[in-house]
Amino acid sequence: GSVLGIVGGGQLGRMSAIAAARLGYRAHILTTEADGPAAQVAHAVTLGKYDDHDALRRFANAVDVITFEFENISADGLDLLSSLRPVHPAGAILRISQDRIAEKTFMGEHGIPVAPWHAVESRADLDRAAEVLGYPFILKTTRLGYDGKGQARIHSAADLDPAFDTLRPHPLVAEGMIRFACEVSVMVARNEHGEISTFDVTENRHRNGILDISLAPARISPDLAAQAHDLARRIAAALGLVGLLGVEMFVDHDGSLRVNEIAPRPHNSAHWTMNACPVDQFEMHVRAVTGLKLPPATRHSDAVMKNLIGPDDMALWPEIMATPHLLAHHYGKAEARPGRKMGHVNVIFPLGSLPGEFGVEAALGPLATPADATG
Ligand code: ATP
Ligand code: MG
Ligand code: MG
Repeated sequence: GSVLGIVGGGQLGRMSAIAAARLGYRAHILTTEADGPAAQVAHAVTLGKYDDHDALRRFANAVDVITFEFENISADGLDLLSSLRPVHPAGAILRISQDRIAEKTFMGEHGIPVAPWHAVESRADLDRAAEVLGYPFILKTTRLGYDGKGQARIHSAADLDPAFDTLRPHPLVAEGMIRFACEVSVMVARNEHGEISTFDVTENRHRNGILDISLAPARISPDLAAQAHDLARRIAAALGLVGLLGVEMFVDHDGSLRVNEIAPRPHNSAHWTMNACPVDQFEMHVRAVTGLKLPPATRHSDAVMKNLIGPDDMALWPEIMATPHLLAHHYGKAEARPGRKMGHVNVIFPLGSLPGEFGVEAALGPLATPADATG
């Protein structure tokens, strides 16, 4: 049996390792957490920091192919891994997705629509961004942001200095604020033979900057859904992707799509596939990086996914376990810090019967969101 190397020890690595085991592969995890979510279910190679080249070498030499659940490994580290074993997705793809400016530049070069943007390297650049984009706009660090961290919303000139001071000295990018009708995402898998599979479009809702609920299928027109699939396929092909990629998009109020960001790995917004698809995103990921055939990413059910975040949601775990239609996934994290993703719950419905707002809340039972807490 071959060994799949997975860089990163979080829940995405855990669920990828479980999928790998189901297909007869062993998984080795490169992780800074000896007892983290992925290390609990697979062999772990631990290191203090991802720039420990001895550990990277030991890890690479013990596996057959390398993939990622964690995107922010250094360029040097990527080069080292790539010199020792096949790395999928390729380092060049990670470098694009690690940097919002590289990402937007790539999209521009390939005719993929994004929000208007302006690079901010100085305070004067920020004034210029305000002129070009108008208020309100969003200032983001170009690297290392997640769950809405490393961002500031700028409503007027009074917000410029505080936002700049908070986010500096990191390189920044300003983005025009899209008044989106909804946010959607598409997962696309592509293997080395150029076979492509895309999962159905997901509708995503955030709370406090963190993904809260995903609905599949997204409640958008068939025409718009086809456009979203097409964008995802074009991006995957243009990148020469081998692996799995999440493409986050805004549905603008005029009904057009703009790509927000890409993530070349399994994605939180596609966790519903674990219970609503014959082949879920994690198996698709393993298949794509190990050169297996990609089955069509079909769906046998409609689905709602709800993230379990922090101690408040985890306090409901016993109730969740006592509610059989809540299909629960636990990440094995010891400590439920506020804002930390601890697990998720899926609810599935017969195809074509995804309920409206009240039905979704009712189906979530103990996890239903109070009406005043959304947004
Ligand atoms: P993730 O956890 O998805 O990696 P992130 O920290 O990388 O998040 P983004 O996805 O860029 O951040 O932004 C987080 C959320 O903020 C988006 O899902 C969207 O709701 C909102 N947002 C970001 N950029 C814009 C924009 N240009 N216009 C309107 N809303 C935006
Ligand atoms: Mg992101
Ligand atoms: Mg995002």
